[in-house]
Amino acid sequence: MNLPLNKLIAEADRCVVCGLCLPHCPTYRKTGSEADSPRGRIQLMRAVAQEILPNNARFTAHIDLCLSCRSCESACPNNVSYGALIDTTRALYTPQTNHWHRLAKPFIRSRLLATSITWPLWLLQQLRLTGLLQRAFPPAKSLPRLAMPQRWKTYYPTTEPLKGNVSLFLGCAGSALDSQSLNDSVYLLNKLGYHVHIPKLQTCCGSIARQMGDAEEAQSLIKKNAACFNPDYPILTTVSGCGAGLKDYLSTHTILDICAFLVKCDWQHLEISPLPQTLYVQDPCSLRNVLHSHKDTYQLLQKIPEIDIQALPGNNQCCGGAGAYTLTQPAMANALLQDKLDTIANRQLTLLATSNIGCSLHISRGLRAQNIHVNVCHPVQIITRQIQLSERN
Ligand code: SF4
Ligand code: SF4
Repeated sequence: MNLPLNKLIAEADRCVVCGLCLPHCPTYRKTGSEADSPRGRIQLMRAVAQEILPNNARFTAHIDLCLSCRSCESACPNNVSYGALIDTTRALYTPQTNHWHRLAKPFIRSRLLATSITWPLWLLQQLRLTGLLQRAFPPAKSLPRLAMPQRWKTYYPTTEPLKGNVSLFLGCAGSALDSQSLNDSVYLLNKLGYHVHIPKLQTCCGSIARQMGDAEEAQSLIKKNAACFNPDYPILTTVSGCGAGLKDYLSTHTILDICAFLVKCDWQHLEISPLPQTLYVQDPCSLRNVLHSHKDTYQLLQKIPEIDIQALPGNNQCCGGAGAYTLTQPAMANALLQDKLDTIANRQLTLLATSNIGCSLHISRGLRAQNIHVNVCHPVQIITRQIQLSERN
C-alpha cells in the first residue's frame, strides 16, 4: 500500500535495526553491502524522505536493485511493512525514465495488445523461425513453447452439481504466454462444480507499473479491475505475482491463488491417475511472502497418487525472475538464477512446478541456455494431466 510521506517515515522508524532480515535478503547475500540489505534500504528511504540525504543516482541504484521479494518482511520480528515502504519509495523517488517502462506501458494498458503479439510469436514458433525472432529481439529467448492463443469467453458454466461461482484473473503475461494453465484452471474448476467468470474488461494487475515507480498507472489499472470483477466472487490467479499485486491493492475483493482455492474443494468424485515420479516445487516469493499460501501447492499436488513431492532447496531465496527485474537488472537476475540452476543440476530433476510465470520463464530460459532438460510447469497443469489420463483409461 502506498503511504503518505509522514507514514513512510513512521513505518521506517519501526525498524529496530536488529538485522535479522539480512540473511534472508538475496541482494545482500550477493553484494555484502549494507545499502543493498533491507535494513540499509530502510535507513536510506527514511533519510531521503526526511531530506537528510539527496535523492540521487546512488540512492535509486540501491532501491532499483531490490527485488521486492519481501523475504525480509516475512523474517522481520517487528512486522515492518517493507512492501509498503519500497512501493511508496518507488512511487515518490524513482524517475520514470526507464526505457523498459516506456516499452512495456502500452502492453500493460491493453491486455488485448499483449495477447495479440502472441499470435505472431506462436506462428514463428510453429514455423521453427525462433532464431530469427531472437536475433531481432533478444529477450524473446525467455519465451517458452507457446500454446495457440486463446479467445476467452466471459462465462464457463459447470455441468457438475453447483458449488459456487468464481472469477479467473488472466493477467498479461499469463494470458499471452501461459494460456494452458488458465485453460486447465477452468477445466478443474468446472469439474469441481464452479461456474467460472472471466470479465472481458479485466486488465493488468498493475505490479509491473508499480515496480517501475508508476503508481498512478498502477492505481488506474487496479480501479479498472475493481470495476469489472464481481465482488461477491473470489478472484483466482494462476500467476502469484499478479495475485500479490491484487491482494495488496484491491481490498474490495477476495484474492486467492488458484491452488489455495482448489485444495479446499471436494475432490472425492474425481479419479486421478498415479504419477510415480519425483516432482520438485519452486516457491515463488510472491506466493510465500505476500499470499502466504505456498503450502497449498504441495497439498494440492499430494492428491496425485504415488507422487513424491520435494521442495526445491533454497526456496526461500528469489530466483531473480521478479517482474521486469530480468530486463532492468540482468546481472543480479542471472546471478540469482545461477544458484537455482546449480541446485537443479545437482539433483538431476526432470519435473519442476512453479505458480508464477515470471519464475517459470526465467528458470526455463536458464535451463535451455545450459542444456539442462527439465519440464517446468504450473501445478494445475500437472494435476489436470493426471485427471485427463485417468479419463482416457
Ligand atoms: S528484521 Fe525488521 S526490524 Fe530488524 S532490521 Fe530487518 S526490517 Fe528492521
Ligand atoms: S524485498 Fe527482497 S531484495 Fe528487497 S530488501 Fe527485502 S529481501 Fe532484500
